[in-house]
Formats: sequence, C-alpha cells, structure tokens
Amino acid sequence: MQKNSPFITLVTPTAPITVQTHGGRAKCLQRLVRLDLPVPTTVAVSFDAVHRLAGGEIPDLERLMEPFEDGCLLCVRPSSEDPDWGGPRAVLNIGINDERHAELAKSIGKAADEIYLRFIQAYSEHVARLDPDMFDDIDLSGPKAVHEALEAYEDEAEEPFPQDAATQLLGVLRSMARAWGGTSARLLRMAKGAPADAGLGLVVQAVALGMGQGESGSGVLQLVDGASGHQVIKGRYLSQSQGRDALHAGDKSLFLTKDKRGPSLQEKLPEAFDALIEHAELMRKRLREEMQMEFTIENGEVHILDGVRIQRSARAAVRIAVALAEEGIISHEEALMRIEPRALNELLHRQVDPNAKRDVIGAGVAASPGAASGRLVFSEAAAQASAARGEACILVRRQTSPEDVRGMHASVAVLTERGGVTSHAAVIARGLGLPCVVGASSLRFQTRSKQLTAQGGRIFKEGDVVTVDGTNGQVLAGEPEMLEAALDDAFKTLMTWADEARDIGVRANADTPSDAKTARNFKAQGIGLCRTEHMFFDEDRLTVMREMIFADDPADRRTAVDRLMPIQRADFVELFRIMKDQPVCIRLFDPPLHEFLPGNRAGMRDLAEALDLPLSHVERRIEALSEYNPMLGMRGVRLGITIPEIYEMQARAIFEATLDAAKDGAVVVPEIMIPLVSAKREVELVKTRIDAVAAAVRTERGADFDFKLGVMVETPRAALRAEDIAPHCDFFSFGTNDLTQMAYGLSRDDAGRFMSAYVQQGVYPEDPFHTLDAEGVGELVQLGVDRGRKAQPGLTMSVCGEHGGSPESIAFCRKVGIDYVSCSPFRVPVARLAAAQFTIKDKIG
Ligand code: PEP
Ligand code: MG
Repeated sequence: MQKNSPFITLVTPTAPITVQTHGGRAKCLQRLVRLDLPVPTTVAVSFDAVHRLAGGEIPDLERLMEPFEDGCLLCVRPSSEDPDWGGPRAVLNIGINDERHAELAKSIGKAADEIYLRFIQAYSEHVARLDPDMFDDIDLSGPKAVHEALEAYEDEAEEPFPQDAATQLLGVLRSMARAWGGTSARLLRMAKGAPADAGLGLVVQAVALGMGQGESGSGVLQLVDGASGHQVIKGRYLSQSQGRDALHAGDKSLFLTKDKRGPSLQEKLPEAFDALIEHAELMRKRLREEMQMEFTIENGEVHILDGVRIQRSARAAVRIAVALAEEGIISHEEALMRIEPRALNELLHRQVDPNAKRDVIGAGVAASPGAASGRLVFSEAAAQASAARGEACILVRRQTSPEDVRGMHASVAVLTERGGVTSHAAVIARGLGLPCVVGASSLRFQTRSKQLTAQGGRIFKEGDVVTVDGTNGQVLAGEPEMLEAALDDAFKTLMTWADEARDIGVRANADTPSDAKTARNFKAQGIGLCRTEHMFFDEDRLTVMREMIFADDPADRRTAVDRLMPIQRADFVELFRIMKDQPVCIRLFDPPLHEFLPGNRAGMRDLAEALDLPLSHVERRIEALSEYNPMLGMRGVRLGITIPEIYEMQARAIFEATLDAAKDGAVVVPEIMIPLVSAKREVELVKTRIDAVAAAVRTERGADFDFKLGVMVETPRAALRAEDIAPHCDFFSFGTNDLTQMAYGLSRDDAGRFMSAYVQQGVYPEDPFHTLDAEGVGELVQLGVDRGRKAQPGLTMSVCGEHGGSPESIAFCRKVGIDYVSCSPFRVPVARLAAAQFTIKDKIG
C-alpha cells in the first residue's frame, strides 16, 4: 500500500494524518501507534475521500483492504474533527459471510453466530435501510438464528445478503458518509458548535474479536472519575463481548479493580489488568489528557482499539487540568487554557447553610445549582427596575422565553411553574450561573395579580423576600443563612496560576459585608465599586434618609445627616475590616433622591405619620422632587454640589472609619469616587470640600491617613474632557452602564422592551448592556484613557460597569490600557481566568 495517499492512509507512526484532514479519532489512533500500544491494523479515510464517497465516487477498495490479513473482520468508526460533534455509529464485523462464519464456528463455537448476527442486523439497518423491527419475530438465540436472519434479510431486501467483504465494506462506508450529510445530523452537530461544512473521516480497523477461546472480552477503562475529577480506576469488562457491551451488561460485567460488590478483572486476569493500567498511564502522560480507553482481550491478549477524551463536569475539568500540570505533563498555562472561564460558574455557588432553618413553601425541579434570596418580581421589566435600584430579585414566570433573558440577567434566581431540566429557563439559568427551580407546580402562580400561593394558603406578593434553592429544587420563605461556595484545592490552585499569568487587575463590586466576604473569598484585589446608596435602603436608615430629604433648611438637614454619619461609619469600618490591606473604592451617593420616597398614597400617609408632617406637605415635597427624566436629572455629583452635606457626611464617615479600622490593624487606603461627573468644575468643588473634611478629621483625631480621589467616567462629556478632569484625580473608573446608556441614548431601564427585536434583526450584534460595544462606547473609553493619561500619565484606569466581568469586554479593556476591571463578586473568578487566557494568548501569538 502506498503510504502517502491523501485519501486512504495506513495508520503508522509517520503517516501524514492530521485532525483537520482525517479527524480526531484517526489522529489519536496514530498517537497510540506511536506509543507502540497494541492497536490492531488501522486505515484512515480522509474527509475528502468521505465527501467523494457521499457523492457516489467509489474509493480504491483494494488498496484500502490490502493492509489487513486475509479473512480478518473489520470495523468502521467515525472520525470527525472534534469528537463532540458525533458521527454515525460504529459498525463491527464487516467481512463475515457464510464461509468465514463456518470457519470461525470451528475455532470459537457459538460466538461465531453472534458475530454474524450482529453484522446482519447492523447492515440491514444502516446500509440496506431495512426496518429494524424485521428481526423481532426471530429467536436470535436459537441454533438456526443465523439462517433465519439471512432469510429475513433476503425477503425484505429482495436480494441475498452480500457475501463479498469489499461489497460489505463499501456499503458501510457509503452509508456512513451519507448519514453525515443528512439534515438532522448536520443540525445536531451545528448545535454543538460545528461549522456547516465540517468534514467526516472514517477509520477502518481490524477487529480484535473479544469472543472465542480462552479469556476473551471487551471493556473500557479510565483513570479518573468524570464527575469529580478524582483519580480512580473506572470502567467495566465483559467476557465474550465486543465494543462497549460491558457498559450495558449490568451485573454480568466485571469491575476492573478488586471490588467488594463482585468479581474483577484484576483478580480474574491480573496480567492483562496490569498491562491495561500501564497502557492507560502511558496514554495519559503522552497524550497529555485523561482518556477513556476501549480495549479487547483476545485469548488473554490485550488490544487497544480506541482512546477518547473523557467527558467531564466543570469541577472535574479543573481538577484534571491541575493534576496534569502538577505532574508536569502539561504547563500551568496549558491548564489555564483548557478551562472555559464561564464553566467556573458551576463551581461557584452559594448554598443554603445545612444548619439553617428551612421554611419550605414549594418545590420543583432543581434546574441550576446554588441558592439565592431576593424580592419576588413577576416580569422582566420589574426585574430590571429592581436591579437598577440595586435590589436582589427573583424572577417568577409561568415559563420563560427569549424575551425574559434580560430579566433573568437582572435577577439573582429564577422560578417557573412549568418546564423541566432542559426548558428555556433551566438552560439559560445554568448558562448565567443563576439558581433556578422550574416546574414548581406545588405553588399556585398568579402572575397577573403578582402573587404566589403556597399549599395551605400562605400568600407571597411582589416584593416579598423568598429564597430559591436550585440545588435541591426548593423554594423557601425569607432569607436563611447561606454558605459560600466550596472552592476546592484544585480550583484555588488554578486561580493562583491565573493570577500569576494575567496582566490586568480584577476587583469586585461590593456594597455589603456579605459581598465583601465573597469578594475576598474569590481573591478580588479589592473593591472597585461600593455603591453607598445601597446602605440606606434598610428600614431604620430609610426613615432618617427621608428626614434628610424633607429638611427645610440646611440646619435641619445637617441634623439628619449627622444621624446618618455613625451608621455609614460603622458600615465602612466593617467593610475595611473585611478588606484589610486591600483598596476599597467608595462611590459617593449617586441616585436621584425620589428613589427613597414612597410611590403610592398609602406609603405617603405612613411617611407623613413617621415624620409628623401633614400629608399635603409630603405630597408637595414628593411632587417637587419628581423629575421627567430622573436618570439625567438631580443625581450623582449634581446632588453633591447642590446638597453638599451628603458628600461631606460620607467623606467624614470614610475618614473616621479608616482611622477606626486602622486601630484594629486593618490598614486601608480608601478611594473616594465621584459619580456622574461631566465638568471639571464639579470635581474641583467636591475635591475642595473633601480635602477640608479630611483636614478637619486629621486635626480632631490627631492622626493621619491617606486617601485617593477619583471620578467615574460615565457621561460622554467626561470621556471627551478627560484631559481637563484628570489633573484633579488619582484615578478614573469607567461606569460603562451609564456610559452605554448615554452613548446610545438608550434607557437602561426601558431597553428591554425592544432589545430582543433589535438583536434579532441585527441592528445591534449584542445587547450593549451585556457586551461592551467596542466600536462606539469603547471609543469613548479609549479617548478617556488616552486623554486622561496625557494630562496625568500615572492615572489608574478601571472599568466598574457590568461589562467588567464579561470575558469579551476584558479583552477590550486590556487592549485600551485599563489597569483593572471590577465586577460582581461571583464573576471575579471568571474574570481572573479570562484575563489570564487573554494574556497567554497574546504571549503565544
Ligand atoms: C455604571 O454606570 O456603569 C456604574 C457602575 O454605576 P451604576 O450602575 O451604579 O449606575
Ligand atoms: Mg452609573
């Protein structure tokens, strides 16, 4: 046989076989041959040859069959570029016919019948395309089974069963080539990410019988558990069997290693077992991967038929990559490149503390792991509004559809009445790493009247806090204690390597002590954004806040603000203690004041009572504060300029907390950030006041401290005028949420209504609130960075909008010279790994 035919290639150590021309299986078999493993003779048929075959061209069968011994049976298996794209089923025992059957029967007895029968059935179904039920009425274990099966074939196909091996082989090859081109196969593999024109190669291999004299059989073996990634010998072996029979034989198959539950191959055939382990270890080392090995034992002799990369969970993928790197089989960098950053979500979830009291109100299918507590919302618009207010919410729907995806992004968990583990809600929630319970039909969903009724009649309305436990499918009332995700050693090791590799910082957006703990746990390099307004929504603080808003003159306002100060200071002390020795970037008050006021009459009445004011006064004040477009109104630094007491109070709270925390050894250099800046003068004014507060605190306390002052660049004007603004700043943090909103003129809270139509019709390639628009918003970021650094070369630059945690946006941030990204705590590991991968990719070119 000519070795270098582009179409038909004998698998030898040096044959020109590549994954791109002959597929992954062919290439893997070549690697096994190079390792000198006992692989039966194999021939690889290229993508091109298979393509021609599907088009009717007949390959050179003589050449193809030449390397095989006369009378040897063959099997054909698919070899696509990526094994995950699938392919037609393997066909075994090609070449068996009446004559060969008779010969085999002499040496291996009844097993010959089974071999012939297996092939008649496979050929009838896959090649002759006969009804697979045609053998239902035949007793395939009887002495005349072969004879009857051949007759049945002849009746159905109206021709005798082909006796010529070449004819059989051609039929099998052609049927496989055509199956690959079929519509359903094409759609299936495209769903798995294959390109439309993905090729199929085939491998033709001599069959190692696995049936007959002596100890014969087949099995599979791997050295790790695909679910946990722990090293343990797994697999089964079945005497007198072929292919993957052992996996479906229940009690009849043997364990591989000694096992209390039953007999094992290790005991039955220790030499073969030792050989298998030796081969598997060699494969692991030299193929640099955990493989599942398919093997046959023929009269005591081991043959290795195939090796496939084992399927694995995300947790196992991390453990395997780390183990291979720790043993020096792959590099740290390669281990990092083997993990899809978003797959880490599976490892990172909080769970309800097993010791917490569970007030179960309903149950359904556990569709996406982890648990989260939040307020009930019943529409995607409400979910987005809630997220915009910074309130955790649980999206409740009968079932979800693509229109709900933005709402799901805005929620901490999802609960549906209908659906199963593959429903839209379940699939999307898993992708987003959101806890999700679907099919919770024990609860009554009244989505119009926005309530859930539990069995027994307890009612939960919009705004009530519940917990979705996606790990066990339960819905709980209230907010039980949570346990942070269990991050195992392998995960931690991988993350350490990621930190060594990456060249962009990762901080967390954290407003509460619990967020800060998560941030620390996930090794964020500090807090990049603490939204202080979130500290005022608790009931007791809200009342004082409202008093401050209602104050008629600066003196009254000062009194209310003075009551808020110790509360804020205590919040900051706690944050600083948790974040000890790391930077904490605190954003001064940002939202419009009306967000703290009641939206309905009942609420206004309560407020009038609480503040001891006439209802009409409350109504007038609320009316006076209402704005046509609050997101572009009196918020951010505009409040800081017009009601200076708020920022002064916050600055004092930060400075005093810095000194208090330092007493306990928690040294923090706070970073104070001014939101929604659009003009240099805003920064000058606020800076002067903050410097004055710092000086006062230093004098009062007789102690010194450092702090940094910077701005959020989140209006287009701030980006454009960065050169004016930079000299007054130590840092810029790009608020890409608002920057996107203002660059597009697109309301963050209303875009959900038409976003899916816009993306579907290709107006926007993606939702720009999820993936940073590198062209437009990105240009503003680039301008801001360049102009800011022109005026102040050492200016620290960061991105703290939601985009900070998305891998695509991190790639952009690195390119434009951002020093660090800041994202929600649970996205920190994903960001750390993605950042490392981009750095490595750049390095290797
Ligand atoms: C932003 O606008 O990107 C930002 C981080 O601030 P917020 O989302 O609080 O407006
Ligand atoms: Mg903002």
